[in-house]
Amino acid sequence: MVEKFRQLGISEPTLKEIKKLGFKEPSEIQEKSIPLVLEGKDVIAGASTGSGKTLAFGTGLIHNSKPDCGMQGLILTPTRELAEQITRELKKFVSNKKLNIISIYGGMSINRQINELESAEIVIATPGRLLDHLSRKTIDLQYVKTLVLDEADRMLDMGFKEDVEKIINQCPEKRQTLLYSATISSDIVMIAEKYMINPVEVSAEIYVDSSKLSQIYYNINDDLKFSLLKHLLETEKSELAMVFCNTRRNVDFVVNNLKAIRINALPIHGGFSQKKRNKIMKIFHSNRVPVLVCTDVAARGLDIKNVTHIYNYDIPKEAKEYIHRIGRTARAGEKGKVINIITSRDYDNFSNVLKHYSDFKIKLEETSYIKRVELKWMAHSRYDGRRNSRFGNNRGRRDDQRSYGGRGNRSYERKPSSKGKSRNYGGREDRRKDSSRSYGNRQLVSRGRERERSFSSGQSSESKRGYERRELKRRNNSGRNVKNRRSGGRRDNQRDKRRY
Ligand code: ADP
Ligand code: MG
Repeated sequence: MVEKFRQLGISEPTLKEIKKLGFKEPSEIQEKSIPLVLEGKDVIAGASTGSGKTLAFGTGLIHNSKPDCGMQGLILTPTRELAEQITRELKKFVSNKKLNIISIYGGMSINRQINELESAEIVIATPGRLLDHLSRKTIDLQYVKTLVLDEADRMLDMGFKEDVEKIINQCPEKRQTLLYSATISSDIVMIAEKYMINPVEVSAEIYVDSSKLSQIYYNINDDLKFSLLKHLLETEKSELAMVFCNTRRNVDFVVNNLKAIRINALPIHGGFSQKKRNKIMKIFHSNRVPVLVCTDVAARGLDIKNVTHIYNYDIPKEAKEYIHRIGRTARAGEKGKVINIITSRDYDNFSNVLKHYSDFKIKLEETSYIKRVELKWMAHSRYDGRRNSRFGNNRGRRDDQRSYGGRGNRSYERKPSSKGKSRNYGGREDRRKDSSRSYGNRQLVSRGRERERSFSSGQSSESKRGYERRELKRRNNSGRNVKNRRSGGRRDNQRDKRRY
């Protein structure tokens, strides 16, 4: 059964573990990258979440590491949850080989990590906490043979570029560097050129099997958005559902209002202490609570079994985030459903998603009569969630706030009692984002991407808005995707080839 894995060059003890796990055949990215990894090449691998990247780079780490020879493998990852998950996943493949695999990230006791580091052969770390250990001289990178940058695009998006570079510079020059990422941006190309030796680039196509994953959207008035979510959570037959919001404030808003109407839901976002985040993930993994309301950062890359429904309560600002969200369901041959709840505030973001993934079939679904739910809990004007004060916490906070926070969503859900004064924060929010994001003055590799930014940058000119509305309307009418007919469409397609 594991013959195809054997052909990739994977060693017998690892094959044994793969067999135990019941994997039938390698995924596309495993098939393409494992032989290169085992040959010792530097590899840039592009593949979306859920495509089995951990095993792909894990084979290299296992191959290059020996017990009791110091820390030989280092994986950098953007979030704490991912560090945890990779650690769990990697341990599955090495149970026969006595390698100590540990994770180090902020928000957890540093002393315990210092003890564990003494005997660790493979370390999975978030950049902030790793730098902390480096400055305390409690970690030694001189024996590192394999350096992995996992979810590299996310790591750079989150502003960890400098930190990552500092860390790379402290690793021995003679090493194997593996970079796994969902998208290849100019920053990634720069990192690759600067720090990798003749890297080989491989990629797996984004593939959405529409017989397994159905995608729909509702177009609804702003003041019925939450009511529709409630209605769907009650009527759709789901096992586990994830509800994505763009801000911490909206996560709190949704989860508190769900609880108020006795729908059991858990919140997760970067405003919580790490202990709380771990505890929440544990409960959700155990299937005891059916709904997780989350921001992108907290949920990025997480592999949770039995997620049958993904709700986009907010449509993500970055189109690629849509891919990461929907990758949480329809995993390992199971079926899944993606439900986008859009209001006029989501039009810009949604048309951006449609433009990027013009081959996706996202069907408009008509709403039946929706009973309005009285909102019991209002969003605070300013997020006042708990903040940790120690160890890499600023970085942790930055996770959510940088790209997803912002004033733009302040009045996201109108009070039922308000006199219907509609306030539009869209333009302001997007301007803010544009000026605060650090794409820097580097030329982007793909000019198409520049176009993408200027289109979504929400300078809010009427003509742009008009275009987006017309695009959406055309879709509504035809019930299927409208190909991008703008003159720059070809460039967009070219860019899309670089998306995995
Ligand atoms: P990624 O890092 O690309 O998001 P993961 O490495 O977390 O993906 O893998 C996602 C899930 O798929 C995990 O539960 C993993 O055990 C499983 N998996 C990995 N490779 C295979 C395979 N070849 N066949 C079946 N399941 C696999
Ligand atoms: Mg992963």
